[in-house]
Amino acid sequence: MNSISVLDSQYSVRTVFTNNSDWQSHADWHRTECRNAAFEEYLRVPLNHVFYAYEGHTGNVLAVTVENVGELEAMDKIEIPERIGAYDALVTDIPHTMLCICTADCLPLFLYDPRQNVAAIAHCGWRGICNGIVSNTVRAMVGRFGTDPRYVAAAFGPSICKRCYEVGGELMDAFAKRFSSQEILSLFEARTNGKFLLDTRKAVALELLRAGVRQEKVHDVDICTLESDDYASLRGEGAYVEVRRQMFSGIVLT
Ligand SMILES: [Zn+2]
Repeated sequence: MNSISVLDSQYSVRTVFTNNSDWQSHADWHRTECRNAAFEEYLRVPLNHVFYAYEGHTGNVLAVTVENVGELEAMDKIEIPERIGAYDALVTDIPHTMLCICTADCLPLFLYDPRQNVAAIAHCGWRGICNGIVSNTVRAMVGRFGTDPRYVAAAFGPSICKRCYEVGGELMDAFAKRFSSQEILSLFEARTNGKFLLDTRKAVALELLRAGVRQEKVHDVDICTLESDDYASLRGEGAYVEVRRQMFSGIVLT
């Protein structure tokens, strides 16, 4: 496991993202309780509860508040999506309540507001970005918890980089919903084979800036999941990566 040190060293927040050796060295890694116990040990923060996103490449955000935390804890992880549908980001102001997402090439976005003491995490793939997951997450922090986005610290965990992410030109139509043609030109680089290289990190950064987050507060660990052997990569493995072998990213207020 690793953490986003730029956040952990400055703020009352702890972060984690897993690598391949974590599931290889834990026989029970697929069991949520075992994984949560490993998180607790690594983070050295007592965890009252760990909420996982029920991902669907949506723009939906689940806010965990003092008002609904009891109800959400009482629902098991099947009941939550059954009742509220898929969601790809979580936000909370409750200490010791961990928020967790699962990725393999998509970008894990960590957000922290030191003024209101609010933490959020979002699963950002191209579909989620086009569905507004980045701006919706910041908006949930602002609307539910009174965050001023100018003070928000943001960090990108490991994700597929622009050099490695080859896509078809049809994705530009989806991006046209949220990005100007000028921006799309800066996100998609044409290759000689008719395909394009897509810069999802830049797309997330543009969305953050639009939502009011300051550029100097945006940090990227700059690890490419495809180029590194240490992280789950959907593209690298060429097929579906089973959930337990994907990369988990989490954030918790201390
Ligand atoms: Zn790469």
